[in-house]
Amino acid sequence: MLMCNKERLQDKITTFSKFGDTGKGGITRLSLSPAALEAREEFCKRCKALGMEIKTDDMANIYATIPGDENLPAIMMGSHADSVKQGGNYDGILGVLTGLEVAETIVTEKIPHKHPITVVIWTNEEGARFEPAMMSSGVITGKFDKDVMLASKDTEGITFKEALEASGYMGEVENRMTPEKYRALVELHVEQGPVLEDEKIDIGVVEGVCGMINYEFTFAGQADHAGTTPMKYRKDALYAAVKTIQYLHDELDKLDSKLVYTTGKISAHPNIHTVIPDLVKFTLDARHQDPEVINQVLEIIKAIPKTVEKCEASFEKAWSRNTVHFHSEFVNYVEKNAKEFGYTTKRMYSGPGHDAQFITDIIPTTMIFVPSEKGHSHCEKEFTPLENCLKGANVLLQTVLDIDKK
Ligand SMILES: [Zn+2]
Repeated sequence: MLMCNKERLQDKITTFSKFGDTGKGGITRLSLSPAALEAREEFCKRCKALGMEIKTDDMANIYATIPGDENLPAIMMGSHADSVKQGGNYDGILGVLTGLEVAETIVTEKIPHKHPITVVIWTNEEGARFEPAMMSSGVITGKFDKDVMLASKDTEGITFKEALEASGYMGEVENRMTPEKYRALVELHVEQGPVLEDEKIDIGVVEGVCGMINYEFTFAGQADHAGTTPMKYRKDALYAAVKTIQYLHDELDKLDSKLVYTTGKISAHPNIHTVIPDLVKFTLDARHQDPEVINQVLEIIKAIPKTVEKCEASFEKAWSRNTVHFHSEFVNYVEKNAKEFGYTTKRMYSGPGHDAQFITDIIPTTMIFVPSEKGHSHCEKEFTPLENCLKGANVLLQTVLDIDKK
């Protein structure tokens, strides 16, 4: 079977790890920052050397394309090149670099293909500098209002529009991904969790992206003096919140073992060590691929009484997302190709969101996961062994060639 080149892939990973290098094994490459622009420049330089034609759209998404033998829509590979603050060298960028390696293999091995082949970089996937995440794939698929996105500001007060204009990568609206111009997207990504490594699996066959809900809970009590108020008179909102978090954990643990849930944000008012807290808020993020399990989570939330430990309890939905299912034929290609290479596979749903989950609404899409060492991601320890990156690239190559034959 045709395979990608290990040394070339290593060179790509090493080269791109310099753009935004923190000196501690990771990168800070916030969207459209100088480091991100250096990475884009290197990407474009390498694409041009392969004879690829480069276009950018109005959200600075980059599309680098090798022409096909026939006048057909292009097959896309790729992901994002930005990172979170002190992030790793694999999240997003590995999808871009394996895409580039597949394109390089196709060009150097002169592999015939009917469709044009495109490697894409989606702008501002992380949302770490300009909120929200997956901004540009969201705009071109109609999920987000462009004007609202352009007004998004970083911590220095620079708007996304200003950064976009200064970047030199802002192109034409006509260059956006559309179903007329693009036939498919295959996004390779690191798992960002420990399951594949733990189960000694080479390739995660991604069937879709988990649905999720995010609720905010509020507890209202009475602020009083910590030294003078006997325990029986207190309305301690923090204590009520703690009791409720414990209740949620006890009940949610009885549901399906694939359910993941997190209280990641909590605030206490007035947050003074001598005052009983009178207002406490916390969030609950819950994710599962099956909407029925999400409904069971909702039932558990709704069972919270209106009064907890003499405090008023309330909750409201902050936001939610439905489960996304990828193109089943392409999912099967990924599984078949991995098995033909002799790689171990596991079908799974992604917990995190990815650009692919928006793109799949417009064109047939799937994803390939490779293991993350110890599950670390969004940190400098993020690592995927080269051998696993290469396995992912090989499956990506064959999957693109399968789609090409259709
Ligand atoms: Zn990512």
